[in-house]
Amino acid sequence: AGAIAAQTDHLADHLADHLAEFRIASEPYYRPVGQEVELFDAAYQARMPIMLKGPTGCGKTRFVEHMAWRLGRPLITVSCHEDMTASDLVGRYLLDAEGTVWHDGPLTLAVRLGAICYLDEIVEARQDTTVVIHSLTDDRRILPLEKKNEVLPAHPDFQVVISYNPGYQSVLKDLKESTKQRFGAIAFSYPEPAIEAEIVAREAGIERGTADMLVRIAQRSRNLKGHGLDEGASTRMLINAGLLIAKGIAPAQACQVAMVLPITDDPELRDALTAAIAACL
Ligand code: ADP
Repeated sequence: AGAIAAQTDHLADHLADHLAEFRIASEPYYRPVGQEVELFDAAYQARMPIMLKGPTGCGKTRFVEHMAWRLGRPLITVSCHEDMTASDLVGRYLLDAEGTVWHDGPLTLAVRLGAICYLDEIVEARQDTTVVIHSLTDDRRILPLEKKNEVLPAHPDFQVVISYNPGYQSVLKDLKESTKQRFGAIAFSYPEPAIEAEIVAREAGIERGTADMLVRIAQRSRNLKGHGLDEGASTRMLINAGLLIAKGIAPAQACQVAMVLPITDDPELRDALTAAIAACL
């Protein structure tokens, strides 16, 4: 019994350490764009799994950080990729000096801690990996640890959040219907110009007039989407341009570096974007 008590104490210490590690200490700046804060709040109260849908660089990650802080929950983020296995999420036995020791994966840790588990770019993960969240995202709220022969009930505060970029959608890269249907979805897109400029000015530390100009360039860039561009300039790219301008780089060059060259290799498109920038400067 002593050994079991010691083991339990050890687990409690270990969880307390992790709780501190994943807690968000100060408020991440997030400028609401619509009803997303209220919607997420209500979904969290119902412990509904949530999908944040929208193009890359439009504020999904920042939003989830802000919401975790607001709700006082630790946040565990996993960037999904195609080589990710179910064990990377759930955990595995590893060999150490004392023999084989179980190591929780990030999903398991979130289930134990009652964290918000944010699976970023979930579409990148193989479908057999995605399926491990099924029993956590319906009313069972359990995680089977098959290799440990154990079924872990989720902490009452645990929630799954995924991000999903509909632009990438293809037959090969899509979520299973049975996965999608478990989630409520909140749509994200680039904020309206005045709000986006407010965000860019604040995040890059530039004047509002310069931010307004970057947003005008972005709008032109977004109009080229589909004409050879997969995505126009995202809010993140505008902030990058702004950061260079704040360091003294001339606006035309900052825009080349942050908003043109990263997204196209095509000379014609590059010229079109360069002309769009010149027209706004
Ligand atoms: P995503 O997760 O959608 O790819 P991010 O959340 O990383 O995008 O957003 C990129 C950057 O844009 C953030 O680091 C943040 O600086 C900024 N950003 C975008 N939208 C907002 C917003 N509504 N409020 C505050 N910052 C924002």
